[in-house]
Amino acid sequence: MKRINKKKVLVSVFALSLVGSTTAAEFIYKPASPIEIASDLQKIEGGQLDRYHKPFEIQRLSENVYWVSVSYYNVTVIVGQNSVLLIDAPMWGGKRVLDAIKTITDKPLSAIVYSHSHADHVGGVGEIIEELGNRVIDLYATEEVRNSFIAHKMNMPEPTKIISNRINFEGHDIKVNKTLIGHASDNTIFLIKDGNRKILHAVDIVHPDQLEFRNFSLAEDPILYQNDIDTLLSMDWDVMVTGHSNLGYKEDVKFLQGYISDIRKYLHEGFKTTNLHDHLKSDVPFEWYDSYSREVIDYAYRLLSKKYRLGREKEFDINARTHIDVYLWEMISRGLTP
Ligand SMILES: [Zn+2]
Repeated sequence: MKRINKKKVLVSVFALSLVGSTTAAEFIYKPASPIEIASDLQKIEGGQLDRYHKPFEIQRLSENVYWVSVSYYNVTVIVGQNSVLLIDAPMWGGKRVLDAIKTITDKPLSAIVYSHSHADHVGGVGEIIEELGNRVIDLYATEEVRNSFIAHKMNMPEPTKIISNRINFEGHDIKVNKTLIGHASDNTIFLIKDGNRKILHAVDIVHPDQLEFRNFSLAEDPILYQNDIDTLLSMDWDVMVTGHSNLGYKEDVKFLQGYISDIRKYLHEGFKTTNLHDHLKSDVPFEWYDSYSREVIDYAYRLLSKKYRLGREKEFDINARTHIDVYLWEMISRGLTP
């Protein structure tokens, strides 16, 4: 009984922590269910460490679409009329994704879609094909993903079907969007309408219930990444498979939007109160910029800490400074104000 109370307290602390920059979301936490369709704002109960050690977890998102999680990586499974389509297959998790699918349906896996060319999200495809006894399946990717595999000399099974606008898969019309490319220039997101549910598969943009990973998951272009967050909010969808962490909702995206906007605002104030000339102390120019940027970052960090650290001290202490660092250089190099 005490355990349950503690959980409830944790949930309300999280909801409160959202108040700072946006409306508090009333998320509902329940154990993952492969049978019951998640209701609006429903998330998966349980800690990340427990989830990491489980072989897999499945949450049904609509009649035919499922969220599958293996060791902190999430994929989307779509059951068609005769077979199954999978979006992404994390490295070292291919077999477990396949095991999870077998508990959902007897229909065979016939297609895998690559969301982007980062091996941690798609590096399990080879293992799956091997598990299937090298049975031929369709491998969908955009031209950008295929070209990136080649340019980076990645050892990936080659896409067999190049996609651009949509995938027609056994009664499912999956919309393909290639415009959200701040994380990676080949990042592809997918909108699946199933009954009344609109499910978005958009990877490495938002980490629901968490601060973002270091350097915003190494976003290739932080300003385009910020644009992507605005775009996600303007799109029509109900629930998001984000590649990591928990199920994502618009409230999660709003939180991230506010967090980045605060970082830029605090940096702007930091620039105004800091003078490069105070740092011209040696004959090494890199040292001037290092010490100047450190002063600006420290200023922004103090303000960000006041608003966001409480209740998530560990991840804030690990990652927040990298988040500020990303936008400091981006604002300097692009000449941006908040
Ligand atoms: Zn990625």
